[in-house]
Parts: sequence; structure tokens; C-alpha cells
Amino acid sequence: MVDLHSHTDASDGTDSPEQIVDNALAAGLHALAITDHDTLAGHDAALPYAKELGLDLLCGIELSTKFKNKTVHLLGYFPSGDPGPAFREWLTSLQAKRRDRNIRLAARLQSMNVDVTIEEVEAVGRSMAGRPHFARILVQKGYVATSQEAFDRYIAENGAAFFERDEVPLEEGIARMRAASGKPVLAHPVRLGKRVEMEERAWITEAAALGLAGMEVQHSDHNAAAAAKYGALAATLGLLPTGGSDYHGTFKPNIRLGSGINGNVRVPLAWLEGLRR
Ligand SMILES: [Zn+2]
Ligand SMILES: [Zn+2]
Repeated sequence: MVDLHSHTDASDGTDSPEQIVDNALAAGLHALAITDHDTLAGHDAALPYAKELGLDLLCGIELSTKFKNKTVHLLGYFPSGDPGPAFREWLTSLQAKRRDRNIRLAARLQSMNVDVTIEEVEAVGRSMAGRPHFARILVQKGYVATSQEAFDRYIAENGAAFFERDEVPLEEGIARMRAASGKPVLAHPVRLGKRVEMEERAWITEAAALGLAGMEVQHSDHNAAAAAKYGALAATLGLLPTGGSDYHGTFKPNIRLGSGINGNVRVPLAWLEGLRR
């Protein structure tokens, strides 16, 4: 058994890189992919420890991209072990852009006599610091009653302190991963929220044509029927099936590493082998 989707405290999980390796071995896993949001720091830190303990660690990442005006999570796997300097520099430039936007958002709020600092936001959000973390702090400090109010009054698109964020187009995310010898994989397709079967099929078919290598079939949000449906669609479109728990540690305590929610995730070793071929 393997788990190809997990997060450490380098993004929004709670396990340190060493803890997640320990937990993977305790769960009886042969292999693990750390797929933190927008950063390879958790994977890089875990790698020597995983080698020492004999856990097969696959290099991965999860990016937020934009496709047809919707946010789409794109997983990337790097079977050679390292996406290389060009991809890493690109990630750094994305982080710098995000940080710049947060700094401008904090400054705009300060100018409105709303005391939220970039340091506070980064302490909460780490590599993913962004608007939800601004909202949390605005609630904590009593400027607004709810996160919704924080968005409505200040940080939503028509809020008083809004700045546009350039999200990476799905096509670019796929191309960058391909250029780094990576395998781009559509994450948790159930979260696209397409209720009409035909629409969902058309959407995924179009995304696949941009150069996807695989699609997540097993995921904590997929029940048995969803896993069967996405497995069949992946086979039809020639996409590799992948899967994982999307473990976040105690941040999402009902999700277990390797097995998901009440054992709804089971990812065979053959799927990892498929990614490596
Ligand atoms: Zn995701
Ligand atoms: Zn995830």
C-alpha cells in the first residue's frame, strides 16, 4: 500500500517532515508522496530521514491553478526525485508574488485603521498565507464577526482592500511540470463540483487534452461509486490512476494516512509504478 497525497507542516498539515515518515511506516506504507501546497520544503526535509528508515519517498507537490475561471488543484510527481533548479526557481517566484500581494493587502488595511500585519498572516498561513488567514485574524481581533463578513467588507473581489491575485493557469502548471520531467495529475476531481455527469466528463476531457498524465481516482472525498466512476474515466482518457488520503495531520483528524476516512482509500503499489514508468 502507498499514499500519494499528503501534507506536512511546510504547508497546511500538522506533522513535521520526520513525523509524517514515522506515521507512514507505522501505517504500514511502502511508499509515500509528500504533496505540500506550492512548496517542496517538506519533501526535501523528509528525504534523508525516509532514506535512513527505508521508506520510499516520492517527490510531489500540489499547485492551485485556474481553469475556466475555477480554482483547480494540480498534483505533480517527479519520479527522478527532483524537479530541478528551473522548476524550483519558478516556485520561488510564485511565492514572492503571493507575498507581495499579502503585503499590499496588509498595507491597505492599515491605511483603513485595521491593524493586521504581514507577520501575523504568515504566522497563521505559512507557505499558503492568503485571504483566508487575513479573514481569521480579522475575526480574532474583533474587526468582524465572521470570516464571511471579513471577505464581504474587506477582502472579497468587491471588498475595500482587495487586490487581484494572478493564479497560475492550469495549462502553465502542466507545462512547467512536464518541462521538469514531472507527471501532472488532476487532484480530487469530485471537488470540481460538477453535478451533471456530461459536463464533468467534458470538463475533465478538456483538461486532460492540456497534457495531464493522470487523475486522482482514490481520495478521502471519493466514495466507492466516485472512485469507480473516475477510475473508468481515467482509463477511457488514457490517464494514469493515482490516489492518496490528502492527510493533513490533526488539522483534519478524521483522515488517516494511507487509509483515508474509515478506510475509504486503498492505493496499490502498481499505481506508483505506473507513475514511474
Ligand atoms: Zn487539494
Ligand atoms: Zn492536498
